[in-house]
Amino acid sequence: MNKFFNFSAGPAALPSQVLEKISSDFACASKTKNASVVEISHRSVEFIELAERAERTLTELLSIPKNYKILFLQGGATQQFSMVPINLLGNKKSSNYVNTGRWSIKAIKEAKRYCNVNICTDSGVNGFVDIEDFCNWKIDEKAAYLHYTPNETIDGLEFDYIPELDMPIVADMSSCILSRPIDVSKFGIIYAGAQKNIGVAGLTIVIIRDDLIGNAIKNQPIMFDYLSQSENNSMYNTPCTFAWYVAALVFEWLKDLGGLEEILKVNKIKADMLYKTIDESDFYLNNVVERYRSNMNVVFSLADKNLDKRFIDTAKENGLLAIKGHKIIGGMRASIYNSMTIEGVTALINFMQEFEKIKT
Ligand SMILES: *Cc1c(COP(=O)(O)O)cnc(C)c1O
Repeated sequence: MNKFFNFSAGPAALPSQVLEKISSDFACASKTKNASVVEISHRSVEFIELAERAERTLTELLSIPKNYKILFLQGGATQQFSMVPINLLGNKKSSNYVNTGRWSIKAIKEAKRYCNVNICTDSGVNGFVDIEDFCNWKIDEKAAYLHYTPNETIDGLEFDYIPELDMPIVADMSSCILSRPIDVSKFGIIYAGAQKNIGVAGLTIVIIRDDLIGNAIKNQPIMFDYLSQSENNSMYNTPCTFAWYVAALVFEWLKDLGGLEEILKVNKIKADMLYKTIDESDFYLNNVVERYRSNMNVVFSLADKNLDKRFIDTAKENGLLAIKGHKIIGGMRASIYNSMTIEGVTALINFMQEFEKIKT
């Protein structure tokens, strides 16, 4: 096996160009006996320059308006499940949550520790394969905000629009950020763990409208207050410098590719190819309503479950890694984030068609 493609859902594959750059940066530091990026102060001129460059490139990629702050935090997307209610509730007693899958459920569970959660729509009733029309959602108008998950990484369900209401919209974009252009001005907060489409684990990007900073409920840990993080430029304590450095490289890689319009074209091609293969066969199955199928995480099952293990093992022997579905729902999942090439998806499709022929 000389060539392999990694379909891991997260931590996910990095673009090969970024891996090569990391490797050469460290080799160069070692050769010149200079300190590498992980061996210098986060307050050094070199690191601050890198941090500012990362912020500038991300601002450019997403056209982030001036009244938004970008935070480079730790604690994963999961820590945002707590930080969002802690910082946005103010004197309100409730929040709206959209339930479209397993990550929504986790966010809801955490929010319930702080307030009354109004589940304004629940895809659990259809087995997480469809999203109720927005006009039928039961919104609590007095709630502090609405939280939703634009792309459900485990269930393979993705929104094709942004819900708009007269309250801050909060989005967990962990598995779809930077996969397409978005209108940041429609959001109160966008957050994302870095290990899917931004870089390596340890970093969480938070893009927050500045009027939402500074309202945290009293006596919470200082690390959970957007104000302390923002006032200190995400350096209240030592940030995850390595993950920050990798993010900067991924942002530059995307910019060099032509930005988000260009990556969206590639992402569309990859997803369309894969869903077409699934739909044209009775051997593979995906039940998500076409409109809401994820462009990032393509889930599918085999008509004969008994073949699952054989499929996964044979795929691996053929250089197609991490194709196994999440343990909660089983089956298969091909995560095709920005770093996955059309070549990789083509290899998967060829394998799927070959496997089907042998088994039927
Ligand atoms: C992976 C993922 C998370 C969890 O991220 P952590 O960084 O592990 O906390 C949350 N939400 C979504 C949508 C995810 O894909």
